[in-house]
Amino acid sequence: MLVVQKFGGSSVANTERILNVANRVVETYTAGHNVVVVLSAQGDTTDDLIKKAHEICDSPSKREMDMLLSTGEQQSVALLAMALSNMGYPVVSLNAYQVGMITTSSHGIARLKEIKTTRLNRELERRNIVVVTGFCGISKFEDITTLGRGGSDTTAVAIAAALGADLCEIYTDVEGVYTADPRIVPNAQKIEAISYNEMLELASLGAKVLHNRSVEMAKKYGVELVVRSSLTRATGTIVKEECKVEKMLISGIAGEDDVARISLIGAPDAPGQAFKIFSALAKADVVVDIIIQSMGQNNTRDISFTVDCASLNDAKNVIEANKERWGIAAVDYNQDLAKVSIVGAGMVADAGIASKMFEAMYDNHINIHLISTSEIKISILIDKDYMKTAMKALHDKFCL
Ligand code: ADP
Ligand code: ASP
Ligand code: MG
Repeated sequence: MLVVQKFGGSSVANTERILNVANRVVETYTAGHNVVVVLSAQGDTTDDLIKKAHEICDSPSKREMDMLLSTGEQQSVALLAMALSNMGYPVVSLNAYQVGMITTSSHGIARLKEIKTTRLNRELERRNIVVVTGFCGISKFEDITTLGRGGSDTTAVAIAAALGADLCEIYTDVEGVYTADPRIVPNAQKIEAISYNEMLELASLGAKVLHNRSVEMAKKYGVELVVRSSLTRATGTIVKEECKVEKMLISGIAGEDDVARISLIGAPDAPGQAFKIFSALAKADVVVDIIIQSMGQNNTRDISFTVDCASLNDAKNVIEANKERWGIAAVDYNQDLAKVSIVGAGMVADAGIASKMFEAMYDNHINIHLISTSEIKISILIDKDYMKTAMKALHDKFCL
């Protein structure tokens, strides 16, 4: 069997944890399997590197930022390879350049386009354990890119798909996917199995246990994922196409507390307005989430949308540079917001879900700023300070 095992930052946070990972990898290897290990940077390394960059300048170049951040993952793979080698196992560490992990050139949010398999297969044929940097790629200009925070999961799934691996295991610091973040909602329950679609919604809506693009890719290539703990032996959660195991109406609650809302007030009510605004934002690589257009005063339109706080500066630059040309009367920014969502494939057939959700907010005196729905989720935008209360209330209402 070929197994891809990904270990996140907390699983490799210190020497003891690296040795623990080495032991788990060896278990799989000595059972006769080929193993590709994908690693994140140790502990808070990525955060620390970002802080360091901002000590040097306010808005560091995105290219140089990727150059800097990729060093975190490179440290991890070298350290694990040393540990495995010291234990007497054949091992090689590889970075994104050495593997040929080709991405787009959007620094900081690059997307994987192709993974070369020649080097990986050559090393596996030699029965080497192959330890690869997660999160990083190479653009067509041969510059180092990164896939966005949490992107190592996506590296692992992409490698599993490219090599046709039999199993892709995502090892983390919780025992699987829960009905809500167990650090926020203490009575959250572990889910045995969840469908790609539901997991994709949860991940996209803030359940950072899996990077959303890793789920997208797993669904596209049919890679079955197992999310489990690197510190215990619990069985974990299976993410796959269809799940008949659990027939819950709501599979989970997700929250994201780094949401910013931008409102463009008094835009002319004319064809092409939305196109102008959102194409300019897209050109600047600003990913827009909820968009609401409503009637303004005197035949104008108000357009509100959300971005994550990290993109707010880029969005502001685009808007401030163009607002007069677009005929916008005023702009309002608010970055103290959170998005809380309920997700479940079963909700489409139940008319009462939305009102139950809003009732839970009313009971807790939480004001809702924006609402967005799809077939399998309802999201609301609220003040950041109430996110935890809202998640607990929704979990009590729908998941117990
Ligand atoms: P890693 O470093 O292993 O990639 P992450 O911190 O990225 O780990 O993701 C694991 C964390 O995701 C958990 O510690 C947990 O707090 C958080 N999390 C958020 N939502 C969920 C959920 N629904 N189920 C499990 N964990 C969740
Ligand atoms: N080290 C990166 C981050 O902290 C990638 C990852 O952990 O998946 O976001
Ligand atoms: Mg992660």
